[in-house]
Amino acid sequence: MSPDAPALMDTYARWPVSFVRGEGSWLFTAGGEPYLDLAGGIAVTVLGHAHPAVTNAVAGQAASLVHCSNLYRIPLQEALASRLAGMTGLPRAFFCNSGAEANEAAIKLARRHAWIQGGPARHLIITLSGSFHGRTLGALSATAQPKYQEGFGPLVPGFASVPPGDLEALAAVLREHPGEACAVMLEPVLGEGGVVPLDFHYLKEVERLCRQHGVLLIVDEVQTGMGRTGSFLASQAAGIRPDVVTLAKGLANGVPIGAVLASEEVAAGFVPGSHGSTFGGNPLACAAALATLDVLESEDLAGRALRLGGQLEAGLRRLAEEQTIARAVRGRGLMLALEVGAPASEVVAACLEERLLVTSAGPRTVRLLPALTLLPAEAEEGLERLGRALKGVVA
Ligand SMILES: *Cc1c(COP(=O)(O)O)cnc(C)c1O
Repeated sequence: MSPDAPALMDTYARWPVSFVRGEGSWLFTAGGEPYLDLAGGIAVTVLGHAHPAVTNAVAGQAASLVHCSNLYRIPLQEALASRLAGMTGLPRAFFCNSGAEANEAAIKLARRHAWIQGGPARHLIITLSGSFHGRTLGALSATAQPKYQEGFGPLVPGFASVPPGDLEALAAVLREHPGEACAVMLEPVLGEGGVVPLDFHYLKEVERLCRQHGVLLIVDEVQTGMGRTGSFLASQAAGIRPDVVTLAKGLANGVPIGAVLASEEVAAGFVPGSHGSTFGGNPLACAAALATLDVLESEDLAGRALRLGGQLEAGLRRLAEEQTIARAVRGRGLMLALEVGAPASEVVAACLEERLLVTSAGPRTVRLLPALTLLPAEAEEGLERLGRALKGVVA
C-alpha cells in the first residue's frame, strides 16, 4: 500500500511532486514552481497544456451537452469521423475512451471480419515482441512483454509474437499456421518497449506479407499518431496502407478518447449490436478532438514535430558524445529516446531535481514525448537541464 495515498491502489510508482496548473510546455506546482514538461503526459498533450482552442471547445461543449449516449446521432462524432477519414484515408471510425479499448475493438474487428468471411476459424493475431498495446485482457494478450502479463493468466488465446524487424520469423509463423492468422498488429515505433523505430522497408514488407497471406494489417498509432513522428500517422511516412489504425493518447489533447479507423470492407465486420461503448465518442470528447485536429492541421504541427525533433535529436547526440553515461539516441520526430548506462529511473529522478519532466521506456531508456508546440528555446533549455542531470548520475 502506498504510504502517501492509502486510499489508492498501488498501481503506479509515482514521483513525489504534483501539479495544479499547466501552460504550453510548462507545469506548475501549488507553490508556483515551474517544471519544463518533455513527457507530455506520455504523448498526450500534443498542443501543450491549457491550449486555448481546446479549453474553449471543452468549456463551450460542457456548457451545452456533455453526454447523451450512442442511442442517438451525435453530429460532433460524425464530424470527427469524417475529419479522420480525410486525414487518414480510412473511411470508417469507432470511438471509445482509451488506447487499450481501441486495440480491443481492433482485435474484435479483425476476428469478426475473418468470421464473416466463413471457412475455418481464423483467430490468430501476430504481434511483435517488446510491443505494448494496453492493459485490458485482450490488449494485454497482444502485448508481447512478459513483465506486463505476469500473474494475469490465462491470457486470451490466439496471439503469437515475432521479433520486430525479423521478416523471416513473421513469414514462418504465417507459413506454419496456414489459414489461422487474421491479422498482424504492430506499432510503427515501439513506444513502451523502448522507442524502437521500425524501418520503412520492413513495414512495407510486412504489408506485402499480409496481402500475400490475406491477413489484415492493424497499426497501433496510439502513441505515434497525431503528428508526433512527423506525419499525422507514422504509417503514412512509411508509405503503407493499414486496414485498421488505432488512435488515442494525443487525439483530444488530454480528454479521454480512443478511435479505431478501418477500411469499408473491414468495418463491415461490425453491425448494430456487435460492439459498443457507453461513453465512446460523446460530445465533450469529440469537441476536444475536433479542436485539437484544427490546431494540428492549421499550424502544421506534424511538420513542426519533424523540425523540432531534428533539433532535439541533434542535441541528444551531442550529449551522447559528451557524456559517457549517455549511450545512444533513437526515435522519430518528437518521439525520442536516450539510451543510458544507468537505471533510467535514476536519470528521470535527476531530471526532476532540475525541474525537467521526462519518462522512461524500459530499464535503460529515457524517453522524450514533448508537446508538438515546443519552442526551439524550450528544446535547448530541456537539453541543458538534461545535460546537468546526466552529470550527477553515476554508471
Ligand atoms: C499507451 C498505449 C496504449 C494503451 O493506451 P491506454 O490509453 O493507456 O489504454 C496502447 N498502445 C500504445 C502503442 C500505447 O502507447
